[in-house]
Amino acid sequence: MFTVDLGEVRKPRSGATGSRQILPTQMVEPWHRHEDLAFAVQTRHSKYSDDRTGSTCETCGRWKWLPISEGDAPIVASAVVAESDLIASPETFGDGLKSFRHLLVRRPLGETLVAASPRNWHLVEVQIA
Ligand SMILES: [Zn+2]
Repeated sequence: MFTVDLGEVRKPRSGATGSRQILPTQMVEPWHRHEDLAFAVQTRHSKYSDDRTGSTCETCGRWKWLPISEGDAPIVASAVVAESDLIASPETFGDGLKSFRHLLVRRPLGETLVAASPRNWHLVEVQIA
């Protein structure tokens, strides 16, 4: 049994589908130190983006880091204390119209997701310090 929030999957016209989706718990405390994120972003993107590390969304004003992988920057342990087996980063990543959060999944749930749908899920080990 996993500790996750489930949402009902509904279609705009026909309504309930009978399927459920896992909803990540949105975290509030930053997962990464600013300088660690800036370093990881610049390491990955400096060839094409010079010193740019991200951009501010013109619609909501949210800062969006250039995309990096979950394992690219260390995660602050005190930031990921949660009951849920699936949590989403407060930091947003992406470029242009792309926008996403990082997800952390406890291993038993992660292995279950990969086993159920290996084309859609893969595990990335992260360092929590
Ligand atoms: Zn926005």
